[in-house]
Amino acid sequence: MNNTIKLSERLRTVATFITEGAVFADIGSDHAYLPCYVCLNDGNAHAIAGEVKEGPFKSALETVNKHELAARVEVRLGDGLHILHDGEVNQLVIAGMGGSLIRSILEDGKDRLSGVQRIITQPNVNERNVRKWFYENNYTIICEKILEESGHIYEIIVADKQVDKSPYTAELLQEQLLFGPLLLEHKTETFIKKWKKELSKRIRVIDEMKKAKEQNQNKISEFEKELSWVQEVLKNGSEQ
Ligand code: SAM
Repeated sequence: MNNTIKLSERLRTVATFITEGAVFADIGSDHAYLPCYVCLNDGNAHAIAGEVKEGPFKSALETVNKHELAARVEVRLGDGLHILHDGEVNQLVIAGMGGSLIRSILEDGKDRLSGVQRIITQPNVNERNVRKWFYENNYTIICEKILEESGHIYEIIVADKQVDKSPYTAELLQEQLLFGPLLLEHKTETFIKKWKKELSKRIRVIDEMKKAKEQNQNKISEFEKELSWVQEVLKNGSEQ
């Protein structure tokens, strides 16, 4: 039996947030590397690997069988949280997809979340959508990480159910949802790098929108407002 799995730094970081002995689901598990890795490293952990597509579902089964983990990692084929019974897991991972998809998986599966104390997400883009869902649904962000691997910058957002201390302030809510309330508190080099890239991208998009025959003035104003937030954050960041 092969009892090691080499995970990317991104997924290893995600795994650090799964507490010992967790019963967790990994939705969109692909090869089920993450749940197998966690269960190989924690003899008390149990996992459900969910996949909506037949190919990745089969790959997940292969990984589980290869590591002889069928008693502790169950692979299920189906859409989002619908593969779960309410109360079956206490932690949830949704990683490696866009923030809008993560948000819609959470929203569509709200009725399966009553026992879920912690949700660990790693949106590839549109992180704000995930933060908004947490904000509106009584999950409080307790940690945010940003890291670069193989030329990509990834954010990991971890939220616990009904923690009292909100990371948000009324005046800065919209900016905090965009940048991440905890990432904003400690602007790392990677954070600055990401937002420098975003700055150039947003300048290009605004230019394009202004050149269009039919201009959407509301959208332009929205983008310009966000551009000014990015400029402000970078200005303050480089002063630190
Ligand atoms: N979570 C792994 C990671 O972070 O490396 C795999 C990410 S992979 C890019 C995204 C996976 O999510 C794909 O295998 C895809 O089939 C699956 N997926 C997409 N939408 C899903 C849904 N609604 N329910 C379950 N799985 C889904």
